[in-house]
Amino acid sequence: KLSKRLMTIAGQVPAGSRMADIGSDHALLPTFLVQSGTSVSAVAGEVNQGPFEAALTQVKDAGLTDRISVRKGDGLAVIQPGEVDTITIAGMGGSLIVSILSADPSKLEGVKTLVLQPNVAEDQVREWLRNEGWFLSDEHILEEDRKIYEVLTAVKRPDAKELTESLYEQNRNLACGMQLTLQQVLDFGPYLLRKAEPVFVSKWEAEAGKLRRILRTVEQSDLEASKEKAEELRKQIDTIGEVL
Ligand code: SAM
Repeated sequence: KLSKRLMTIAGQVPAGSRMADIGSDHALLPTFLVQSGTSVSAVAGEVNQGPFEAALTQVKDAGLTDRISVRKGDGLAVIQPGEVDTITIAGMGGSLIVSILSADPSKLEGVKTLVLQPNVAEDQVREWLRNEGWFLSDEHILEEDRKIYEVLTAVKRPDAKELTESLYEQNRNLACGMQLTLQQVLDFGPYLLRKAEPVFVSKWEAEAGKLRRILRTVEQSDLEASKEKAEELRKQIDTIGEVL
């Protein structure tokens, strides 16, 4: 059985897809997607030898070597342009996800859906999607083993630019009358802001707690730069307070 995190990612993969899971480790996600009939075929990409071998074993044991191709290579180097319509990249930092997606734009030809689960720096992934003509179509947040994860789904559509503009514009206005900056919406996530589920609230309460601890340390210093830093931290803490 898949973890709640991988199940949430799997739930975003379209039925009938030809998918590639980049940084697949044990290839649990592609195995589940092909076994459940969601994906007709899959590529499991891995750059490191250990996880690559684990993926090979998993796919062989599941009897799926004809449907899941396990390949060793860096990021999207393992796929050919037009070969897949869906790509999942999970369990890495946002900046690594962005560098994998940016390395060779030809590899994204024919790809219609991206399902991305950055462990940190989710804002960098949202910003890349926004700038590269992908429409962020949904966001999920979940907690598992005391860790909180965000899953971002994006689709390629001709009207992505306009849809993206209005998505971010609409969600800048909070019910309390406050207006967020674009960067703040990229940080919180436009759908997650709107849904404001309990897990989202816990994530940002914890973040505010961290900022308050930093603020207390900064306040003990008399350096001029510390005053500015303290002011910036107070603003960030206030913004989180308004959002929650
Ligand atoms: N995607 C799986 C998941 O979410 O459970 C595994 C996540 S694991 C923490 C990250 C995996 O990405 C590792 O197995 C690592 O070898 C692989 N990886 C890191 N950088 C990569 C790259 N540039 N190309 C392909 N795989 C990469």
